[in-house]
Amino acid sequence: MSQAPNLRAELRVHPGRRVKLAGIDPSATYGYSKDEAADELARGLDRLRSLQERIWAEHRHKVLVILQGIDAAGKGGTIEHVMGAMNPAGCPVTSFKVPTALELDHDYLWRIHARTPGTGEIAVFDRSHYEDVLVVRVHELVPKSTWSRRYDQINAFESLLTEEGTTIVKFFLYIDRDEQRERFQARLDEPDKRWKFRLGDLDERKRWDDYMAAFEDALSRCATEAAPWYVVPANRKWFRNLAVANILADTLDDLDPRYPEPTEDLRGVVIE
Ligand code: AMP
Ligand code: MG
Repeated sequence: MSQAPNLRAELRVHPGRRVKLAGIDPSATYGYSKDEAADELARGLDRLRSLQERIWAEHRHKVLVILQGIDAAGKGGTIEHVMGAMNPAGCPVTSFKVPTALELDHDYLWRIHARTPGTGEIAVFDRSHYEDVLVVRVHELVPKSTWSRRYDQINAFESLLTEEGTTIVKFFLYIDRDEQRERFQARLDEPDKRWKFRLGDLDERKRWDDYMAAFEDALSRCATEAAPWYVVPANRKWFRNLAVANILADTLDDLDPRYPEPTEDLRGVVIE
């Protein structure tokens, strides 16, 4: 390819601009071939490994990575193939499930805030507080008057985190309905994948349009300068991995993490 595209600029949702998913191609690869993407992904993963080690060593920054997407969009695969490049000691991963009775007795951000990154950590969320304006909205688990207030609440919560020193980066993994059908079918057909499939997934699939409308609102209303959303075309897993790796590495690079100077005078110390 003649000139590599700037995926961070290309895929970023502009704050205040309305996202129309129908106008975005989930199979887009921005000119990359699969082979070119593999080479570039390897470089991206090396960058991630090195940047995360410096962030951990420096103990100065906090980073929150949020992954959202419809069932089978590739949240788990992205964690395995991209986040897996980093040292798990500094990268706690939380998968948010149906809230427990204890969690439901609290406000919806209670369980989220408890899992945000500490200093030196890159925390990864597989689903997040956005479920409280996605599945909760689609299934009317709370009245509209309640969920419709949450976009502003989420923006306020994310502002709190960023003002207190957390860098937030949010990825929406975008597949289309055909791709989901193929992935669900593969989950049924391949014995080693069957554990990922539940019949309930088909009920969700029937509500595809409601989910896409809910995603559009979350992306449009909660893309801010401080906590950007990226819409990642995710029909091709290799492009999805490349895009997430590059955008995350560019984001971490901006923090300019450095190995700390020794806090003791180590000059002249010789190991006997
Ligand atoms: P999975 O990601 O396949 O392990 O499934 C997790 C399930 O938890 C999904 O069906 C989500 O819709 C559900 N879930 C996550 N967060 C919430 C929430 N806040 N309220 C209701 N369901 C949720
Ligand atoms: Mg599932």
